Amino acid sequence: MSEIRALLKKALPEADERALERFEIYQRLLGEWNERMNLTAITDPEEVAQKHFADSLAALPYLKAGMKVIDVGTGAGFPGVPLLIMEPKLELTLADSLQKRLTFLEALLRELDLKATLVHGRAEDLGQNRLYREKFDAAVSRAVANLPVLLELTTPFVRVGGTAIAYKGDGAEELKNAKSAAFLLHVKLRMEELNSPLGKRCLVLAEKTEPTPKAYPRKAGTPNKRPL
Ligand code: SAM
Repeated sequence: MSEIRALLKKALPEADERALERFEIYQRLLGEWNERMNLTAITDPEEVAQKHFADSLAALPYLKAGMKVIDVGTGAGFPGVPLLIMEPKLELTLADSLQKRLTFLEALLRELDLKATLVHGRAEDLGQNRLYREKFDAAVSRAVANLPVLLELTTPFVRVGGTAIAYKGDGAEELKNAKSAAFLLHVKLRMEELNSPLGKRCLVLAEKTEPTPKAYPRKAGTPNKRPL
């Protein structure tokens, strides 16, 4: 077994052989493309396995085959692509405002022989587009914004009864600041602490109870400038 494969197997005990093979390809392409474009500051194979791959899988228990899921601000594919590797029957959409990241993702998905829809745009615009608004069972998002901003960027994509899932460090602190955003966006928040070797990690789950008011998301840049 190659050194990389052994590392991956240790970090991802739930992955079968086909999934491990795909993570190995992902690891290699990330390294190759990172030399040409800035995709991630994490390059050590063991750190990639833990901090990108294993960490991305935290939302897996909340997702099932056939679910429509959007990854908002996916960057180099996190958490969406690792989730798709583990559950190839997700109907996954990967959205980012930077076209060059999508160019990488297109090549990656081809090499992995996996299907996902790639969308270029800002979440503020896509969330007002009827092709995407309230069309997903779940939205996932990691390292994109503070919770009040993130809720405005992600919950418009989710249908009533669906969930926006935010990957966070200290969720308790963020939850305190997100009460008015949750009220205005009609979501119920709860936090699930993760047992992670990376220290304090949690998922904040925002369950949508009513349609998002038409005013949200506000125009590009406003959620960051004036968080709800
Ligand atoms: N989610 C990835 C991860 O965990 O490694 C990438 C995190 S990176 C710090 C933030 C990403 O979000 C970038 O790729 C950026 O282009 C994207 N992004 C930030 N604001 C956005 C917005 N308003 N709409 C769409 N994408 C956005």
